[in-house]
Amino acid sequence: MIRAELRPRVAAFTSRRGRPPGLAVVLAGHNPASEIYVRHKLRALDEAGCRAQLVRLDAAAAFTEVLDAVARLNTDGAVDGILVQSPLPTEMGAGAEQRVFDAIDPAKDVDGFHPSNVGLLVQNRSSLVACTPLGCLELLERAGIPLAGRHAVIIGRSNIVGKPMALLLLHRDATVTLCHSRTVDLPAVAREADILVAAIGRPAFVTAEFVKPGATVVDVGITRLDQASEVERLFPAGHPRRRQFQANGSLLVGDVHPDVEEVAGALTPVPGGVGPLTIAMVLRNTLTAAENRA
Ligand code: NAP
Repeated sequence: MIRAELRPRVAAFTSRRGRPPGLAVVLAGHNPASEIYVRHKLRALDEAGCRAQLVRLDAAAAFTEVLDAVARLNTDGAVDGILVQSPLPTEMGAGAEQRVFDAIDPAKDVDGFHPSNVGLLVQNRSSLVACTPLGCLELLERAGIPLAGRHAVIIGRSNIVGKPMALLLLHRDATVTLCHSRTVDLPAVAREADILVAAIGRPAFVTAEFVKPGATVVDVGITRLDQASEVERLFPAGHPRRRQFQANGSLLVGDVHPDVEEVAGALTPVPGGVGPLTIAMVLRNTLTAAENRA
């Protein structure tokens, strides 16, 4: 729906500027999950009428090749948005990703990871914000979940999900608690939440004891299970998700335990919840970057 809504904006930009909005995705290596994410992003942009290009680098590429690709794209007038898919190959070193994010022209930073864009978000005058938390916010607002004055608890404090999510909710006048691995009595803190966001990366970590009855739960986590025993632990015999696992040999699950469905007022599914919204926000940010640059 969001993608369909954005199509007229893409068409208007294209007729005004004589070229479509352009996104370049840099993909280094062959991480299977990254391959899928990048394919989805490129397809969504393509279907919306944008020009989406993939810059592929070998897993053995030197880190400087990534920086060179970014430098080239920074000066390419037909490229409005640049996205470097993480994770970069581990051989590139621990600080590699942030160094690349720092090198992207902030005006083309559709991931919203550049320090300038993060700073603008802190001050509530952002233009380009990280796509996953932006998608979560969109989801909450479109579902008509009240945010002002509500207590939002976020589990996970990463730069790409937890922290920007906290800021976005704060700017919508929620009272925000940001939790992490050192939080004491996490279930009790989480149970205070009217809105609970799980961005941890641990399958089914958030059980029913974390959730106040009626709370809204947003499940950001995505983990691929490939062991039957893990799937059987989460889903009882005869459950459709067991059949899905048998058919595909693996199953995508979130950070939220299936039992939470019984307690929560609303719960986003995995897959099919936050993931598609993230893709839609890549499109929206590319369009925003293109319009800002024009
Ligand atoms: P991350 O960088 O690994 O951060 C995980 C966070 O969870 C950290 O802040 C960590 O705390 C916290 N955590 C880990 N174990 C915990 C525990 N036992 N109790 C409380 N907190 C704990 O992960 P991320 O990049 O934010 O991603 C989180 C999940 O979202 C992953 O499953 C990822 O695949 C998924 N994701 C989905 C999308 C999408 O489009 N749907 C996009 C991005 C990410 P510390 O800081 O204390 O270590």
